[in-house]
Amino acid sequence: MTQHEAERRRRQITAEIARIGFCLPGSLTENFRRCSTSGCHCHHDHASLHGPYRLWTRKVAGKTVTRILSAEQYERYRPWIENAKKLHELVAELEQLSAAVMADQEAWPEPVAPPMITSPRGRRAKAPTPGGKCRSARAGTFEGSARTVAAACPRSRCRLMRNRPKPSTR
Ligand SMILES: [Zn+2]
Repeated sequence: MTQHEAERRRRQITAEIARIGFCLPGSLTENFRRCSTSGCHCHHDHASLHGPYRLWTRKVAGKTVTRILSAEQYERYRPWIENAKKLHELVAELEQLSAAVMADQEAWPEPVAPPMITSPRGRRAKAPTPGGKCRSARAGTFEGSARTVAAACPRSRCRLMRNRPKPSTR
């Protein structure tokens, strides 16, 4: 990449960032749950799980904070979450571009890709979950994270079964 091309790309990235609207931290998920009422259908029949619950989850000072959203709120704020994702992608690209320009100016070898992020407790870093889709899920095709889909899927042998959260023991 020439200096001129790098400068042009930098301008494109910063212009895109300038156009982004509100950026909401965290993530939105939809899931179905078992309740704590003994004898409720939801404990025996996967199709009777309660929900969907639309959740906005984010970290505040290291703690996970969740808020339940209405369907209307979920749809209204979803673009804000997408904006945040886009912003992070653009910032990451700008940083990579800057590192490449620096290496070029200093005649250093091309920078290598950043190392995989490992979790603080030293567990093996997980590749990002691509999300899942299961046709047999309740309400037709249910899209979302693999965990969310697995929770919603009534099939006992759903391919996403391994991601299914353990049933509540309460
Ligand atoms: Zn129930």
